[in-house]
Amino acid sequence: MSSTVAFIGLGHMGGPMAANLVRAGHRVRGHDLLPGLVDAAATTGVEPAGSAAEAAAGADVVITMLPAGRHVLALYREGLLAAARPGTLFVDCSTIDVADARAAHRAVTDAGHRALDAPVSGGVVGAEAATLTFMVGGGEAEFAAAGPLLDAMGRKAVHCGAAGAGQAAKICNNMILAVSMIGVSEAFVLAESLGLDHHALYDVASTASGQCWALTVNCPVPGPVPTSPANRAYRPGFAAPLMAKDLGLAANALRSGGVDAPLGLKAAQMYADFAEGEGADLDFSAIVRTLRHGGANPNGTPA
Ligand code: NAD
Repeated sequence: MSSTVAFIGLGHMGGPMAANLVRAGHRVRGHDLLPGLVDAAATTGVEPAGSAAEAAAGADVVITMLPAGRHVLALYREGLLAAARPGTLFVDCSTIDVADARAAHRAVTDAGHRALDAPVSGGVVGAEAATLTFMVGGGEAEFAAAGPLLDAMGRKAVHCGAAGAGQAAKICNNMILAVSMIGVSEAFVLAESLGLDHHALYDVASTASGQCWALTVNCPVPGPVPTSPANRAYRPGFAAPLMAKDLGLAANALRSGGVDAPLGLKAAQMYADFAEGEGADLDFSAIVRTLRHGGANPNGTPA
């Protein structure tokens, strides 16, 4: 069944996601603070709206794809919830703090609407190809209601639990990824110092207990996995600043929950430093370079 969707935030992710909803037969009214993005979306069939509230008026579903929790909460509290008709389904696909996601759920339901948090993985490539994975928090009925829209924008949607569970799953997964990427990178740097060839380490670890996505898909050194960003000068991929952002959210949740996770916190600090410096435009796997700094073999060629 086709729905009328308000889509707020037509950036790198939101633009192609909104276009895929149009392609699937939904009526989409889009808004972004940047008029150029609204114009670009119009070329894909998204109807331009002069404000978020205008887009939301009369819509069945309001989807937000915004930079951070403060943007989502400000928008919700400053008129968007009031502009929607009662019972509208609000689906926030932005990656935001778990606490902010829970506050957003409360604001939505207090205003007489329905809410889901539905952050994504898959990046811009997944947004364009409609192959995103959605991690969803909220009620069973809301998850079912959003199903056709999530199917139009992605390949998989996992119902993770109640309000905030989607955001929780996203930051937990990315904490695993960051720690494992640093671990794989350190192992390659150690191999270099020991004179062990990259391919030899890869051939062993990829079929042994060191096997993981950071090694076998996004291998941080060029050669063993020809499609990994390391083979194209670390062009992203998954950009280091996005990893730093997600780890910052994980660190917030660790601290506020009093959870002792030294590796997660260390990874968050390493990626924050890397993203501010040489990693600003690079894939997150390029952190292997910083691990070589100060080492005996800065070029990364097997000794
Ligand atoms: P982006 O900066 O390209 O897009 C965000 C858009 O929101 C911008 O165009 C901005 O103008 C707009 N915006 C901000 N406040 C607004 C408001 N009040 N009203 C209307 N528009 C407003 O960012 P992006 O890369 O599309 O990422 C969006 C979200 O998706 C972020 O939370 C990010 O962490 C998450 N995410 C991004 C990727 C990725 O690869 N880019 C992958 C997974 C998740």
